[in-house]
Amino acid sequence: MSKVYRHDTTPASARATMATAPRRQARNPLRRGMADLHMHTTHSDGQPTVRQLLDYVTTHTPLDVIAITDHDTISGALEAQEMLRHLPCALEVIVGEEVSTRDGHLVGLFLRERVQPGLSAAETVAAIHAQGGLAFAPHPFLRDTPRRGKPTTMVGLGTLIAQLDLDAIETINATPFLTLANRRAQRYNTSVCHQPTLANSDGHILGAVGKGYTTFPGHTAHDLYTAITGGMIAAHSRPYNSSELLNYLRFWLRLTGGRVPVRALRGAQPRPSRP
Ligand SMILES: [Zn+2]
Ligand SMILES: [Zn+2]
Repeated sequence: MSKVYRHDTTPASARATMATAPRRQARNPLRRGMADLHMHTTHSDGQPTVRQLLDYVTTHTPLDVIAITDHDTISGALEAQEMLRHLPCALEVIVGEEVSTRDGHLVGLFLRERVQPGLSAAETVAAIHAQGGLAFAPHPFLRDTPRRGKPTTMVGLGTLIAQLDLDAIETINATPFLTLANRRAQRYNTSVCHQPTLANSDGHILGAVGKGYTTFPGHTAHDLYTAITGGMIAAHSRPYNSSELLNYLRFWLRLTGGRVPVRALRGAQPRPSRP
């Protein structure tokens, strides 16, 4: 059942991507809402199924809103919205997609339809906005070298973000050991882009979800849409404990066939922007 908002200024296309269900416990109205808007499931290269992810978020995190942002597909997010209709919680799921553009990764939120990969970053932002969505640059200064036959999960847009009509920049990506890349994103945004800043987990395993989170006035996906477009969001992170770090390392080793993307984790230099 879709929520009907009073005085709703969210585009109909965005409302259609928000799923909600009765909440098990009353929310604390004094607490700002908490959102993690970048995570993966088995619909791309993430470890958890959609069901495992929803169970984890509702039982182990205080998150009010999540976006499932699998690589080049919205099928996992749509499956989550359908499942939420039957779960006794008020978690809301935004349909997102981490789109593989020609220039690097770019995330669309509040989507109705899959955005085609392989376009330029500027064309991708326009395609996201054309369906009423919001666009943000994930891990902009993170680079990993593509390898033949292996998934590449981290490719940022670099300094190109200054030329794009983005709605936000992910200045905290809570993947372990991204301190330098995150710092570079924060500095570049402060000095050049001046965009609202998001913190997300980019979680590929359950223990990562919620390690990066964005707070906003209100608690709903609608409130979040308003907060992002109004620049009323704040980025935060939580530390990993040693067993969570070990789990993530095991996951990366399995995903990459034994190779940890050390260059990316050190926050490699951004490549020059493409025209
Ligand atoms: Zn990525
Ligand atoms: Zn990602």
